[in-house]
Amino acid sequence: MAVRDGDGWVECRCGDRHWGKHGAAGLLIFRSDEVLLQHRAPWVHNGDTWGIPGGARDSHESSLDAALRESFEEIGIDTSLVIAMFSHLDDHVDWRYETIVARVTGDLGDFQKNHETLDLKWFKLSEVGSTQLHPSFSRSWPRLKELLLENNY
Ligand SMILES: [Zn+2]
Repeated sequence: MAVRDGDGWVECRCGDRHWGKHGAAGLLIFRSDEVLLQHRAPWVHNGDTWGIPGGARDSHESSLDAALRESFEEIGIDTSLVIAMFSHLDDHVDWRYETIVARVTGDLGDFQKNHETLDLKWFKLSEVGSTQLHPSFSRSWPRLKELLLENNY
């Protein structure tokens, strides 16, 4: 049984406090021109915003492993149905957030939302910018959108 050693806050030189002693990772799932966003519960850090499933990375995990594990925990998807295509790193030096961008290969089926997740919804790429986004995801979104469009996904 692997030790979960990633939980904890980091005081970052950017002036913010971030979750994940070894950084954090999340999963951005897309299909044609839509991405899957998670409405985060009001009581979680930066809650009542739309973001992606993810969380603290453990020291023995890759960002991909962490993103898949957290996605399974938070939204209950069958992670064998997604294929990682590329990633984007938001590097704060003291802390880093890696977004794994993954394509869905089939029907994701029913989501099993946990208590941190109010809702899950597919958004058109053009709709995401005008949505109330989680601050970390909001910072990465313009570049993620460019990468999705550049690669013709
Ligand atoms: Zn920071």
